[in-house]
Amino acid sequence: MSAAREGGCSCGEIRYRLTSDSLFTHCCHCLNCQRQTGSAFVVNLLIEADRVELLAGVPQPVDVPRDDGSAQTIFRCPTCQVAVFSRYTHPGVRFVRAGTLDDPSGVVPDVHIFTRSKLGWVTLPESAPAFEVYYDRSVLWPPASLERLEAIGAPAS
Ligand SMILES: [Zn+2]
Ligand SMILES: [Zn+2]
Repeated sequence: MSAAREGGCSCGEIRYRLTSDSLFTHCCHCLNCQRQTGSAFVVNLLIEADRVELLAGVPQPVDVPRDDGSAQTIFRCPTCQVAVFSRYTHPGVRFVRAGTLDDPSGVVPDVHIFTRSKLGWVTLPESAPAFEVYYDRSVLWPPASLERLEAIGAPAS
């Protein structure tokens, strides 16, 4: 259980623990995520910022431009520069990069987004909904996650 909820960077300076299950899990196929990861997609665990407990180190915030002109803040290890999580519009929500978990084997995306730029060889499972761009949280998220989101003052959709 601890390996499933704990993670960190490559050099070990940053260590974190998620104090509960995530709200929802995104697999994003947008071009920004492809560029940032150098890979085909990113898998992000969405969770309240105060449920990401830092066990060691202080991740360094780096602002990265988004397509709409706003900025996304990526938090990186100051030493090895591995990105451990990021912040988009809502300051109370972190997008934890699932690949930084010690044991990411149990992570399954709840939704696939921005499939309009999905690489052709990536085959999506039928078990998760997929969207060309984005989706309506109020339809897809479990009620308990929507309540948690409301508790930190974020809009449901
Ligand atoms: Zn590091
Ligand atoms: Zn993306």
